[in-house]
Amino acid sequence: MKQDPTTLFRANIAALTPYSTARDEYEGSLGVFLDANENPNENGYNRYPDPRQTELKKKLSKIKGIAPEHIFTGNGSDEAIDLCYRVFCTPSVDNVVAIAPSYGMYTVAAAINDVEVREVLLNEDFSLPVDRLLAATDTHTKLIFICSPNNPTANSFDRTEIVRLIKSFDGIVVLDEAYIDFAEQKGFIGDLEKYPNLIVLQTLSKAWGMAGLRFGLAFADKRIISMFNRVKYPYNINVAATRLVGELLECDIESQVEEIKHERTRLMEFAQTLKCIKDIYPSDANFVLVRTDNADALYNALLEDGIIVRNRTRMPLCEGCVRITIGTHTENTKLIESLEKYDAQWQQK
Ligand SMILES: *Cc1c(COP(=O)(O)O)cnc(C)c1O
Repeated sequence: MKQDPTTLFRANIAALTPYSTARDEYEGSLGVFLDANENPNENGYNRYPDPRQTELKKKLSKIKGIAPEHIFTGNGSDEAIDLCYRVFCTPSVDNVVAIAPSYGMYTVAAAINDVEVREVLLNEDFSLPVDRLLAATDTHTKLIFICSPNNPTANSFDRTEIVRLIKSFDGIVVLDEAYIDFAEQKGFIGDLEKYPNLIVLQTLSKAWGMAGLRFGLAFADKRIISMFNRVKYPYNINVAATRLVGELLECDIESQVEEIKHERTRLMEFAQTLKCIKDIYPSDANFVLVRTDNADALYNALLEDGIIVRNRTRMPLCEGCVRITIGTHTENTKLIESLEKYDAQWQQK
């Protein structure tokens, strides 16, 4: 990338005068606050939240080893994905390129923002098709969405191939690392200084166990983060979520991640013994993708035993595939029993 990423902002966004909150104008925390028309009676929630999430960003900065100016915090990764469109893509003019199969929100957010998505199939072995991604771009391509480890294929892409894509593209590469805590290879937030056209998305919804709190992160060049902050709703993270996220960030998730990876191995080894499963794909995430002759039948059989998995058979390159999240040891045992039963019936056919 040769250009400054700020030259890629939509003109109206670059010219935006953001809403200035009462809390933006006065930075101190002590005083008599008569500036925001709040009810002055303390109940724990009567004050507006900090629009900058200063305290949480300090915590996240320590955990991630990245300065707060490089961190955006939002209402799930979904907010960050939507902001990528709103900041960079002029509706019905610009387009984005995205890998397929991958996370559904890239295309849904594109449709909502009236932005064309050019989907590029992964290679047969689910590796990153760098040359075909680049070939799909034109002068109106602002973003390329990739996801590593990828959902639903569970694999990580080769780091040198990701770097080649970032270096060869004149727009922004959005790299979704929702599952990075389960991966063997390191992610890219340590490389942001080298790549001003890289936005890395992470979330507290998976390894961190906070899907219900809705907390997503974006890491990027500080000029991009600063623009995200101008465009987002001023109070996008509420006070209750701020407190709970702050507390739960103190938890040690390392042992849970290890346990999930251990269970993943157990499930994959078991799946290898089944005749009804043709392929088990390598996983760098907290789920596995398996291929069978009849995904609908497998899905329904598990459902009858009260086990809900994700049928991915209608996604590109995923015919016959089912995505299974790694649960607790007990839950996985139930799954194994149900799969065993299905396999025995399947073998009789
Ligand atoms: C689950 C998931 C997310 C998380 O989205 P949140 O809005 O943060 O819950 C993001 N990207 C991918 C690829 C996912 O699978």
